[in-house]
Amino acid sequence: MRIAIGQLWQETNTLNPLATTRADFEQFGVCRGHDLVEQMADVNELGGFIQSMRAWPQPPEIVGLVRLPAWPSGTATAECFEWLRSEFFNAVDAARKVDAFLLALHGAMVAAGQPDVEGAILQELRERVGPKVPIVVTLDLHTNITREMVKAADVLVTYHSMPHVDIFETGQRGAEVLRRMLFEGAQPTTAFCKIPAVVPAENSSTEAVTGIAVDLKRRVVEFETQPHVLSAGIAPVQPWMDIPQFGSAVIVTTDNDPEAARAACDSVAEEFWNRRREYMPTLFSAAEAVRFAHQQNGLTVLSDAADATTSGAPGDSVWLLAELLKYRWPREALVTVVAPEVVEQCANIAPGTQRTFALGGRRDNRFGTTIELEAIVERCFDARFTMTGHIGKNMPIDMGRSVVLRHETNVCVIVTTRSGPHFAPEFFRTAGFEPFEASVVIAKSPCGFRAVYADHAAAIYSVKAPGCAPSDFWNYAFKNIPRPLWPWDEIESWTPTQDLLQK
Ligand SMILES: [Zn+2]
Repeated sequence: MRIAIGQLWQETNTLNPLATTRADFEQFGVCRGHDLVEQMADVNELGGFIQSMRAWPQPPEIVGLVRLPAWPSGTATAECFEWLRSEFFNAVDAARKVDAFLLALHGAMVAAGQPDVEGAILQELRERVGPKVPIVVTLDLHTNITREMVKAADVLVTYHSMPHVDIFETGQRGAEVLRRMLFEGAQPTTAFCKIPAVVPAENSSTEAVTGIAVDLKRRVVEFETQPHVLSAGIAPVQPWMDIPQFGSAVIVTTDNDPEAARAACDSVAEEFWNRRREYMPTLFSAAEAVRFAHQQNGLTVLSDAADATTSGAPGDSVWLLAELLKYRWPREALVTVVAPEVVEQCANIAPGTQRTFALGGRRDNRFGTTIELEAIVERCFDARFTMTGHIGKNMPIDMGRSVVLRHETNVCVIVTTRSGPHFAPEFFRTAGFEPFEASVVIAKSPCGFRAVYADHAAAIYSVKAPGCAPSDFWNYAFKNIPRPLWPWDEIESWTPTQDLLQK
């Protein structure tokens, strides 16, 4: 038996003016064929696929197609989409006859002229291989599941956790579904419900003690333990995509029990809808949050959600940095900025030299602002490390040449060439800092950072600053989304049966 595996991973934020290009994928780490199976054997979903299949009673031949990953950013160019499509289908053609496909897709990628990249790729794959070859797909929790994706794939398996600490396990779950189809004759039957609601990310932690996200996760995980259920997932979509078919979703797939799939999907979708207001976060202004941080003795983490690089924002907002500079800090206040031109400028400056730098507002020229910072060039380094936690298991990251700028207030600005996980402790450590011992860490992440900081921070505040991934996204102009859609619109009544798709 031969099983083909592959990956397309990018989360698009259409509010970000920076286009995602082929070069972004090539830089992040495309790998193909045998190299993919070797290099990804313990990384993210692909690692989950590979290790699961190797443990099957009759291990199949694992055929590596292609891994196409890029860090979350703006809409992909039409040329980039065409390149991804040809990379993927060239790999499918080269693999020749396979018995099934196991694919790790993010599920929220948008290209110019193509609002549903994964749906388009899955549809084309289905047309090429015919109705009988199983296609099992894993997706991020923030996927925008479309009807085209549901119709083209046999089973869609989403992450259960936010922070995304179950990526490898989602790969294992996907492989297990495929095993049941291939060896036990499982017949997937799916109920899918699109919910006319999009919710902020701040209160979406499934790993908190209580809350709506915790309750909904518990329910879908419980469904999955039932023997007739192949997969159950809830997908509160990431909120910064101006596209049709936009909305949250519930998807349940059983082994030939359409009634059970429908009932479970209906009931979870109804609970999500009825409790949607519980996702609304408490936000603090930058001035308030920084003042609170200054009053704390321990570590304060300030979440700058609007510039969250994990949400596809450009990472060069300096609104919080400007506030930090108004205080003196007993230990370091750590903040990051993506600014390749500043890194380049520092290449010719000896460490220890003081200079004035223009920071911010270059990449996000819509909501960003620029400040002048007089600081000492402390050190230059390569922001290259392996990340485990939210978003990754053993995931290699390379944010390029970087520099630490130290201001007299003890604010340290870590400037990188490229975007990346601008919250990860591994990143701060690569820069020479222990983030848990800082006075303040600005996490450019709305919620995922909690996975590592919750146990170390004396206080955490969600800050409302301008940016491309705003928490109050419904106050921004979206032209292409379906209406009515909550919270852009108040919707008096809605029932899951209105939007249920069964297959
Ligand atoms: Zn996500």
